[in-house]
Amino acid sequence: CGIFAYLNYQVPRTRKEIFETLVKGLQRLEYRGYDSAGIAVDGPNKTTSDINSNTICLIKKTGKVKALDEELYKKDTLDLDEELCTHFGIAHTRWATHGEPSALNSHPHRSDKDNEFVVIHNGIITNYKELREYLINKGYEFESETDTEVIPKLIKYIYDNRESDSISFSTLVERVIQQLEGAFALVFKSRHFPGEAVSTRRGSPLLIGVRSEHELSTEHIPVQYNSGHFKEGVQEKNSHNRPDCSNAIDSVGDGRAVEYYFASDASAIIEHTNKVLYLEDNDIAVVSGGKLSIHRLKRQAGEDPVRAIQTLQ
Ligand code: GLU
Repeated sequence: CGIFAYLNYQVPRTRKEIFETLVKGLQRLEYRGYDSAGIAVDGPNKTTSDINSNTICLIKKTGKVKALDEELYKKDTLDLDEELCTHFGIAHTRWATHGEPSALNSHPHRSDKDNEFVVIHNGIITNYKELREYLINKGYEFESETDTEVIPKLIKYIYDNRESDSISFSTLVERVIQQLEGAFALVFKSRHFPGEAVSTRRGSPLLIGVRSEHELSTEHIPVQYNSGHFKEGVQEKNSHNRPDCSNAIDSVGDGRAVEYYFASDASAIIEHTNKVLYLEDNDIAVVSGGKLSIHRLKRQAGEDPVRAIQTLQ
């Protein structure tokens, strides 16, 4: 029912501060109603870019956000004072639609026992039964009764069958949403893409707040269209259908310190920043190297090819 995620890029935060930000974000969304809550953060000792040292830690709890909050401080494996210069944490309050309220059914959901991909979801996936059956036939094991769980399994299936090791996180998510029917706001985190955030929506709201000490490099981001990208043998990524602004900067952020807040509702963001970007249906927002860019599969007639960062009053 509520999504909140926080990415700090080159802004040192202790794990305790990150927990506090995530929990406060969820508390701002409590009025929407929920039955359980959960978060995903990086695990301890993330010293190298080696996948095996990038672990993801999931903490989920039924009941109040307060119960989750207390649980966070019980994990003695997580050093609360550890300073994380760049980190991406995701948090969710669930209003069960498929599967009873329980810790197992609560979000984030994961691709596998190693938490390679984790995701939070607001909404309902109406074709989840077909997808679930397909993935079970391919050998993927489900642990919850939710519609949501097909999403992390599907992204892992696409990742496991990737044609190239250089496949991007946003391409994986683009392929996932092409298979989904129903309503969703989604935020993805992955061990394979540390410090990267990918989010998207269709029918459920999602916005992104941006906070920076520096002036933003742009307040108008041209959408990057990837049409043709999925046809076999065709790799036309980012190459065409660009709006006609040759000096345009494709992303917000220029590699300097910046923080991003993802939420289903502005009430969770406004205390951090009044600069926000609302995602349109089927937009894919990517933060990589601290830069935020917007991607879509193809441009439709009459569609605005630019997303503006608005200033909330
Ligand atoms: N349909 C999903 C579930 O039941 C998400 C519900 C929500 O938006 O909280 O887990």
